[in-house]
Amino acid sequence: MSSYWNQFAQKLDPYVPGEQPKDKKYVKLNTNENPYPPSPKVLTAISEAVNDQLRLYPDPTCDALRQKIANHFELDPDQVFVGNGSDEVLAFSFMTFFEAEKPVAFADITYSFYKVYANLCSLNPKIIALNDDFTIPTDAFCSANGGVVIPNPNAPTGRGLPIEAIKKILNANKDQVVIVDEAYIDFGGTSVVPLINEYPNLLVVRTLSKYSSLAGIRVGFALGQKDLIRGLNTVKNSFNSYTIDRLALAGACAAIEDDAYYRDQAQKIIVTREKTTKRLQALGFSVIPSQSNFIFASHSDVNAEVIFHALRDQGVLVRYFKQPRIDNYMRITIGTDAEMDKLVEALNEILDN
Ligand SMILES: *Cc1c(COP(=O)(O)O)cnc(C)c1O
Repeated sequence: MSSYWNQFAQKLDPYVPGEQPKDKKYVKLNTNENPYPPSPKVLTAISEAVNDQLRLYPDPTCDALRQKIANHFELDPDQVFVGNGSDEVLAFSFMTFFEAEKPVAFADITYSFYKVYANLCSLNPKIIALNDDFTIPTDAFCSANGGVVIPNPNAPTGRGLPIEAIKKILNANKDQVVIVDEAYIDFGGTSVVPLINEYPNLLVVRTLSKYSSLAGIRVGFALGQKDLIRGLNTVKNSFNSYTIDRLALAGACAAIEDDAYYRDQAQKIIVTREKTTKRLQALGFSVIPSQSNFIFASHSDVNAEVIFHALRDQGVLVRYFKQPRIDNYMRITIGTDAEMDKLVEALNEILDN
């Protein structure tokens, strides 16, 4: 069959995002969004940015936002790169730092976009199997690679990696870039941002989508030494100079400034996570210890795919990956206490307790 698509497009294997259903109102625990609203200061800032300035292009270098991020993390603005969601930051990173001749390494069970980007860039990645308990086999990431990408905590398992393990990987990969994707770091992990000035090969990627309740405005950023950031800007400006719009810039600035608000929300999510973990264990689930805003759970008697569909029928959406090693697990985003009550209620019915 002929197609108007070129060879490149025909070979792509795109990411499939968790659904954003429109048919009815679900308890939505499938895409790790924050159940709490953004800071009121963020909403005000975005409203105020709705003005006649919208006829002008936004700042292509995001100076105000980079300055605020730099202050927050005690870095220089030249050590900050801003992108349209951390997905875009990750895509630019793959284009900037990795190449086909030297395989970039990432885990078999991890954020599935990495494989998509590797394919987009025609890379031949080195897939490293997680240990049986889903911990990261640190030593396997220390042999010759053309780069490393690890989320800390990992998704969809929720397991965090100690800073010593990341240091070991950084030391063993001095000539390649090691990307640490800290999308969920604020829910209980230990950030490696303080290592940036010590390691020229470290790039930390962050997002406002989870911790900052701003998945809807699409802002993510990377932190690293100036040379890495300059590389990202070179690729970005070969693609689209205005990736962050004026409303997103206004909202993101306010979000970085109101960290106190977000810390409180994250604390609530952590408390709910621990309570939910115990309740699921009481229902016969085994739950991987999580340092993020979701849990990864498997039931001893009932298959995860069966539970996933039954939950959906009851109006509760979770994420199920039909994938080797994890096809008997569900990834459940931590919502409000009331939402978790509905989840447990539905599970009680499904498991016939
Ligand atoms: C959600 C997520 C992202 C993407 O975040 P956006 O900023 O919304 O694009 C990146 N990495 C991991 C591990 C995630 O779970």
